[in-house]
Amino acid sequence: MQLDSKSPTGPIEKRWEDHRFHLKLVNPANKRKYTVLVVGSGLAGGSAAATLAELGYNVKCFCFQDSPRRAHSIAAQGGINAAKNYHNDGDSVYRLFYDTVKGGDFRARESNVYRLAAISLNIIDQCVAQGVPFAREYSGYLDNRSFGGAQVSRTFYARGQTGQQLLLGAYQALERQIGAGQVEMHPRTEMLDLVVIDGKARGIVTRNLLTGKIETHIGDAVVLGTGGYGNVFYLSTNAKGCNTTAIWRAHKRGALFANPCFTQIHPTCIPVSGEYQSKLTLMSESLRNDGRVWVPLKKGDKRTASQIPENERDYFLERKYPSFGNLVPRDVASRNAKQVCDDGRGVGETGLAVYLDFRDAIQRLGKHVIKERYGNLFDMYQRITGEDPYQEPMRIYPAIHYTMGGLWVDYNLMSNIPGLYVIGEANFSDHGANRLGASALMQGLADGYFVLPNTIGDYLASNKFDKIETSHAAVRDAESNVTQITRKLLEAKGTRSVDSFHRELGKIVWEYCGMARNAEGLKKALSLIPPLRDQFWRDVKVLGGGEELNQSLERAGRVADFLELAELMCLDALERNESCGGHFREEYQTPEGEAARDDEHYSYAAAWEYGGPGQPPVLHKEPLTFEYVHPAQRSYK
Ligand SMILES: Cc1cc2nc3c(=O)[nH]c(=O)nc-3n(C[C@H](O)[C@H](O)[C@H](O)COP(=O)(O)OP(=O)(O)OC[C@H]3O[C@@H](n4cnc5c(N)ncnc54)[C@H](O)[C@@H]3O)c2cc1C
Repeated sequence: MQLDSKSPTGPIEKRWEDHRFHLKLVNPANKRKYTVLVVGSGLAGGSAAATLAELGYNVKCFCFQDSPRRAHSIAAQGGINAAKNYHNDGDSVYRLFYDTVKGGDFRARESNVYRLAAISLNIIDQCVAQGVPFAREYSGYLDNRSFGGAQVSRTFYARGQTGQQLLLGAYQALERQIGAGQVEMHPRTEMLDLVVIDGKARGIVTRNLLTGKIETHIGDAVVLGTGGYGNVFYLSTNAKGCNTTAIWRAHKRGALFANPCFTQIHPTCIPVSGEYQSKLTLMSESLRNDGRVWVPLKKGDKRTASQIPENERDYFLERKYPSFGNLVPRDVASRNAKQVCDDGRGVGETGLAVYLDFRDAIQRLGKHVIKERYGNLFDMYQRITGEDPYQEPMRIYPAIHYTMGGLWVDYNLMSNIPGLYVIGEANFSDHGANRLGASALMQGLADGYFVLPNTIGDYLASNKFDKIETSHAAVRDAESNVTQITRKLLEAKGTRSVDSFHRELGKIVWEYCGMARNAEGLKKALSLIPPLRDQFWRDVKVLGGGEELNQSLERAGRVADFLELAELMCLDALERNESCGGHFREEYQTPEGEAARDDEHYSYAAAWEYGGPGQPPVLHKEPLTFEYVHPAQRSYK
């Protein structure tokens, strides 16, 4: 299979403009003749559905929550990047582009990343026009703070609720179109299969989560904005409902899955506290603007933080990376936290935590300033741990947070299945092997508000769409696939809960394909996952029936897909014999313990084709070339 990224050439700052000019247009009067199915109502899906409807397309939008405004995007805390340079501190579109390519450890397409950086400017204007209440400074300008991997302040924020405020903006735009009859909203509806007819994505099969009814929706194009798959690890900072089902089932219908092993560990999360915990909580990266990360210098030091004098503390990030200090990118901060804990210098009962300390910032700025900046995060920390972070440092540890991998898409955000578009965290584009903080919201909104609404018209205008009846063989095949999976899950009538399988899978993936990986461990994981999957299908106990609200059944279907995806992740990690970004293969590190890339052999996006039941997947490679930011060993010293 030849992968055509459709990545334009020529001067990088002109590529998107030129490309757009050459895309075919659908004239305004014809737009109403097309129906686009948008699965997902988070920042990516919600912004896309609203914009496509605003343009005049008929849109059907789907989400599994009871309301589009409950999409996981609402959880985003810290902020959204844009190269506005309001602080006059040297920022520019080019610098954001440079930081993002470097931050992703040179495993993303330059053309995409430049476009993302350029569009970041429009996103802020769009959101301000919608009334998103970004923080402002004394002059009335929008305020900015810094996130990891940057030496400028380019992160726009609304306290620690940026995702919520942005989502309310997108949601209101979407509601306007629902009210106008241009968007048909289907909440509580889960996509369980993709309908591909004559090689084109033409529909989806859904299950109504309240009644269990299986239905098919036909359209001229399908857009997946279904989020990331971090919950494959069971414990993650993602909302519990986040899953891989939509993209995994599209993968099984032929969509390539790119870089599945590129997962992000976030350095600042509340540490795991017990075996029965089902969720981890993020403490936003924005806290590293003012919080200082440290551990005791001495191994096994059991004194409380306040008993440890200044000269017996190791501010290890500031010591090792004086230029970026506490604001090194996430992969670097996480790896270093793991190293000091492995070294026996971790804090707290388990020794698997480091301090994030605001003492100096409170002394310098006053408690009221810290409260204004991070009040809700401090409250959240206190409610979960019972400790007051204004008085004693937070204890934090890395946790799974985001997935850079996802369905492969070209520059138009179209997968290799014509008519199937993938946006937001669900696709693999833009972040390479490590996403910089505050760049996911930027990408989701760039895709939904600005890129897809331009590129989808080219596809619609260039193709003919026959009317499809729901009696079509491909529709019947997809529906019967969904019915069979449901029946099989309900009929297993085993002894183990869905969650117990999920937890066991999560432990395997975290242990062998988590923050650090090696060939031996990955082979071990590959030997453990298939028997666990077999056992799942034999012994899972799914309560209730198929024709009712049944969360046990919903979860079972999602875990079944995680059990397949996990294997592909380990295979991908094993195949990539280098370290890059969040993919840290222990065999490949520099003498200083940093990720050692192998550009000669691995400068590509790995795009996996589903091989069929029981068959190995097939690897396709999209070579990556760098004309502007030349690959070098990343340095944040
Ligand atoms: C705690 C936390 C804090 C974060 N903070 C930040 C931050 O400050 N800045 C930043 O840039 N990024 C942040 N991120 C990352 C960012 O929030 C996400 O990457 C982003 O919101 C994903 O948006 P999305 O629209 O792609 O997906 P989501 O918001 O996850 O939306 C997915 C949508 O798809 C629907 N869906 C999924 N599967 C199906 C299906 N099978 N059928 C029907 N519907 C389906 C869901 O119902 C939902 O509507 C944070 C992430 C976490 C976990």
